[in-house]
Amino acid sequence: QVQRALLALTIPLETLQAVKGRMLQAMRKGLSRQTHAQANVRMLPTYICSTPDGTEKGDILVVELCQSHVRTLRVTLLGDGNQSPQVTYKIFDMPGDIIQGKGEALFDFIAQCVRQFLAGISSPQHRLPLGFVFPFSCRQTQLDKAELISWSKGFSCSDVEGKDVVQLLQSAIKKQELHHVDVVALMNDTVGTMMTCSMRGEPCEVALIVGTGTNSCFMAEAQLVEMAEEISGQMCVNTEWGCFGDDGTLSDILTPYDQHVDQESSNPGEKRFEKLVGSLYLGEIVRHVLTALVAEKVLFTGRSVAILRTKDVLKTQQVLEIIDNEEGMAKARRVLEALGLQPSEQDCCRVQQICRAVVSRAAALCAAGLAAILSHMCQSRELERLAVNVGVDGELYRGYTRFGEILQSVTGLLAPECMATLLPSVDGTGQGAAVVTAVALRLAAQRREVDQLLAPLRLSCADLERVQALMRREMELGLGLESHANASVRMLPTYVRGTPDGTERGEFLALDLGGTNFRVLVVRVAQDGILMASEIYVIPTAVMQGTGEALFNHIIECIMDFQLKQDLMEQVLPLGFTFSFPCQQLGLDKAVLLSWTKGFSASGCVGQDVVQLLREAAQRKQHLGLKVVAVVNDTVGTMMSCGYDDPKCEIGLIVGTGTNACYMEEMRNVGTVEGEQGRMCINMEWGAFGDNGCLDDFFTDFDRLVDEKTINAGKQRFEKLISGMYLGEIVRHILLALVEKQLLFRGKPCPKLQTRDIFQTKFLSTIEIDGLALRQVRAILQDLELQASFEDSLLVQKVCQTVSLRAAQLCAAGLAAVVEKMRENRGLAQLAVTVGVDGTLYKMHPRFSQHLQQMLRDLAPNCTVTFLQSEDGSGKGAALVAAVACRGAEP
Ligand code: ADP
Ligand code: MG
Repeated sequence: QVQRALLALTIPLETLQAVKGRMLQAMRKGLSRQTHAQANVRMLPTYICSTPDGTEKGDILVVELCQSHVRTLRVTLLGDGNQSPQVTYKIFDMPGDIIQGKGEALFDFIAQCVRQFLAGISSPQHRLPLGFVFPFSCRQTQLDKAELISWSKGFSCSDVEGKDVVQLLQSAIKKQELHHVDVVALMNDTVGTMMTCSMRGEPCEVALIVGTGTNSCFMAEAQLVEMAEEISGQMCVNTEWGCFGDDGTLSDILTPYDQHVDQESSNPGEKRFEKLVGSLYLGEIVRHVLTALVAEKVLFTGRSVAILRTKDVLKTQQVLEIIDNEEGMAKARRVLEALGLQPSEQDCCRVQQICRAVVSRAAALCAAGLAAILSHMCQSRELERLAVNVGVDGELYRGYTRFGEILQSVTGLLAPECMATLLPSVDGTGQGAAVVTAVALRLAAQRREVDQLLAPLRLSCADLERVQALMRREMELGLGLESHANASVRMLPTYVRGTPDGTERGEFLALDLGGTNFRVLVVRVAQDGILMASEIYVIPTAVMQGTGEALFNHIIECIMDFQLKQDLMEQVLPLGFTFSFPCQQLGLDKAVLLSWTKGFSASGCVGQDVVQLLREAAQRKQHLGLKVVAVVNDTVGTMMSCGYDDPKCEIGLIVGTGTNACYMEEMRNVGTVEGEQGRMCINMEWGAFGDNGCLDDFFTDFDRLVDEKTINAGKQRFEKLISGMYLGEIVRHILLALVEKQLLFRGKPCPKLQTRDIFQTKFLSTIEIDGLALRQVRAILQDLELQASFEDSLLVQKVCQTVSLRAAQLCAAGLAAVVEKMRENRGLAQLAVTVGVDGTLYKMHPRFSQHLQQMLRDLAPNCTVTFLQSEDGSGKGAALVAAVACRGAEP
């Protein structure tokens, strides 16, 4: 019967091999984003991405929460390769009831320990970073952010599960008036052990704890830790393997004794692996085996065994003493007698066998788990052989030499491709925790520096209200006949007096110049809608920046090519010309170019009527069938094309290469055009807002650097804060500054990043997408020959977010001025208006429109603003302006 019990507790090697396989499977399940939620082995990210490199430095406080005590340490790291860390520590016993009481009481107690400890070592009052070793499973999202998932190991304090343990400790510490102590890192005891073992010589990449409970951690390939979005290098994963088997995968090795132990525990059905391995349960397993054997009358026959009915009567310490070989059976006898069991020689011998079987089984199972980790590491690193150091701690490992021997030999059998060197952890977790804290501290200091650098780019509500007010003032100046010349916002009349009414009909040609592409279009406006065909033509930079004659010649050539292709040579169609540069318009078909923007600089054009330039070129090219009826800005085209679908659309907005807006203003307010009746569309040319210095307070050094390098330095200052042509450049300059300050890419020089325009605005869109974006960040940075770490990628993302948020908010401040003016013009308490929008930045950026609309609601609460994206506003809009004009012209 005794043999039968021993047999039940012995797991054959094939079965252990199967257990290893299941552990591997469970680990993969925990790592994958899809299956993580259902996984028993949770594989929690720890946000620890490297083992210590010896440069860690400073005075660090460590608090370790243990089973029955709290240990506080002060560790002084000297940055000397961790040769001689100085450690002072103190242990505080915990009152027994505290681990099942209120959460607040637990944290207050821990904070009191910290206070007493600090008082005892008369520590200086300068800031002290604290690392918290918290041996329970937490959902960690940063080094200093960790929600307790669930208590274990007999702890069950109220109001802690689901909360951020770092915050709980920090507030308890505040209550003790220890204002100079900052909790900067939280880690599991396994992680602390791994780090401690790493401090001497070779890095240690795996750690096991076999104490009251059991757990492990290891350095995983970061891209496999899908929950953390880490993308390069490695990250330590806390396996939380104590819950392995909670889904029934271990049922074939569970004995009836294990079932009893589980049922009598405070958490039946949970932590099945831990209940086979952790010392909290081993005494109980032995007790149940003994009870069964007593019932079968093969143990302690005729003796009083009532004591065996008491739960937890057999402590781990006693089990370890019973199996101790040194004094033969004497110790076993002493322990059993102390329990009042009056054992015979044979009883002692049998009890000893049983205890050994239980502890050996624990060691073998641990080996199966370790073998799974090692094989996983070997496979994911694509190695044929793997040699690693494994830090081990816990009373079972320390208390019984055979445990380590079994662990080592069984692991070798189950993972023959791996060579594990077990390193007993001599100093526990404290020094390792100090190292992790030092690293966290470095990161926190960097975060502060980064925030300082980015602060000028962050605009407060008050800032934005000021921008809105300034825009409003500039608008008034631009409209006034006297003040017009001094305004930075030119408020150009467009001679467009109405939006479409739906009766427009006919076939039109349209040109679109001033966007990324030059296009020629034919547009048919009919009862059942609008049909278009178009062709994109390239304007070489040499032509954009050459002579005006060459530019307009080129345009005519493109039109002729288009007409040929579309078989339109014979017809004379009315032409609408979308010309997206600031013009002084003198009529619908007369527009004097005021200045080039967006990279154009063709000579001999500024001050000329562009329609005339086009007609002259047509003559030069002997193209006679050209009838230009309207020049339109792209903002106006956008407003018109959206107006065709929504009569409320009285504003046009562009956020593409450049930015600009137009809106319907009351004629009586337009001082620069005769007439008081009705409305006229005003092309604001708001890109130049600030060119008179009124926005100087808001420009940062980065903006100045970007501006200096443009072909129109000092001009279009508002545009240069907002639009696609510049956002990437702003980001690039910030990144360069961060590298210079050693805050990015470890300060390594990045030659490619020195190249102008290499960081494209479309990268911002990719980088700011939620989800797996960090992988994308890395891919983009890799193209720029930048090797980004996890922190680097996050930082680049933060920079992009800051720059695009500012752009969206400034745009909102401008629009707020517009809609508020329209509301006041019309004497309304509430204005409902639609904005027709175009521009790739607005359309493609994942956050821009959201931020813009949110900010606009805040700045103009009395206006209900709807945004309508225009489909090809420039083409369709030009045709519609032409159509509206023709409608008026033909009786
Ligand atoms: P335009 O304003 O010249 O008519 P677009 O509206 O297409 O042309 O805007 C082009 C600008 O949009 C480019 O200068 C580029 O900076 C920016 N851009 C291109 N792709 C994206 C993207 N995916 N996300 C954000 N911005 C983009
Ligand atoms: Mg455009």
